Amino acid sequence: MTLTTRPRGTNDVGPGEIELWHQLEEKIRQVCAAYGYQELRTPLFEHTELFQRGIGEATDIVEKEMYTFLDRGERSLTLRPEGTAPVVRAFLEHNLGGGALPVKLYYYGPMFRYERPQAGRYRQFTQFGFEALGSQDPLLDVEAIMLPLELYKACGLSGFEVEINSIGCPSCRPSYRQELVEYFEPRVDQLCSSCRSRLHRNPLRLLDCKVESCQAVLAGAPRMEAHLCSECADHFAQVLAYLDELGVAYRLNHRLVRGFDYYTKTVFEVTSSELGAQNAIGAGGRYDGLVEELGGKATPAVGFAVGVERLLLALEGQGKLQVQQEGPRAYLVHFGGATKRKAAQVAYFLRGKGMWAELDYLDRSIKAQMKAANRLGSRYVLIFGEEELSRNRLIVRNMQDGQEQELDLEDLERLAYILGECGK
Ligand code: AMP
Repeated sequence: MTLTTRPRGTNDVGPGEIELWHQLEEKIRQVCAAYGYQELRTPLFEHTELFQRGIGEATDIVEKEMYTFLDRGERSLTLRPEGTAPVVRAFLEHNLGGGALPVKLYYYGPMFRYERPQAGRYRQFTQFGFEALGSQDPLLDVEAIMLPLELYKACGLSGFEVEINSIGCPSCRPSYRQELVEYFEPRVDQLCSSCRSRLHRNPLRLLDCKVESCQAVLAGAPRMEAHLCSECADHFAQVLAYLDELGVAYRLNHRLVRGFDYYTKTVFEVTSSELGAQNAIGAGGRYDGLVEELGGKATPAVGFAVGVERLLLALEGQGKLQVQQEGPRAYLVHFGGATKRKAAQVAYFLRGKGMWAELDYLDRSIKAQMKAANRLGSRYVLIFGEEELSRNRLIVRNMQDGQEQELDLEDLERLAYILGECGK
């Protein structure tokens, strides 16, 4: 029989690796708590129109990458490709903006995009992201950069770079778009096919094209800077001034644009020198128009999303986040029959105290059970012999120093106390 394998672009995360995820998830919770962000869990699928309206029709994600399907009631649903539109949808649906502003929310979980899989790029991947809704303070743009940096630092990551740009707002961007189109039109022959097709629909996206042959044309492209209205220019200057004051190093990248239509003003990306072509470990920006676009009242907002698999790859490359495999607290060796039943009873008692208690389920020899205890790195071995059981006792062996003692089976609290003391 042939085996059914996992779908292309997906991953299984199991023992030996999942511990790293748990460590990272714990750090995410800690950093979010310190910055005052609370978790919001949204469904894995949404009405397709949420992403069409939110991300924009003329984007790669909506045009080519969504997992969209009709359910049995003929509704068009889409596996979420990103987390911001769902957060805004929930923000509006539950009137979360009715209280104190800004509202600070974070999310964590799988996203789905039909992309060409390669190292660091998957069809199901995990994002940790956060959103601050209800303030246009440049300090919140800065916070959206500081929080992920805090997380990267907490993980011990080094060698990352912050790139930043301002892409203006609906009042100043159209004139820039126009100038870009006018610049690219006479040079269209030198552009790749994807740039050509985007030229009139989404000319800003040409700026981050990675195709070699486009680079010479892109290098000479006009910059947004000269088109920023006074409000956008002032906002950007304040963001940079705060970053300077905080001593955060960044690189101005006038070609940094994002794959979503909803961004306004500040956009930023963090890259890691540890990764290859897919080197972005997180990205975000301000999106002052999205809440209104999705049917709410005008509400400025800013957010960021971290690619969890990529962050783990970068950390792995630097030897950070080591797995600390803890063995069982006790391995219970028995001789079958009544000794097995007693061992099981004691195992449940210890597990009830929160201790990892393991025992043999294969009716193996004592030698094989001792070997299993060693292989798992058990701190103690509890031996349930027939003779000891007849006296209501068991043997406790400390595997670190080989010391043995007999304990009373009537006094399990004392057993738990002794096992619990070890390794403190
Ligand atoms: P985006 O939502 O496109 O702004 O992406 C934010 C971050 O998610 C990126 O910087 C990556 O770290 C990560 N990411 C995006 N797409 C993928 C993917 N297909 N596979 C793995 N990580 C991804």
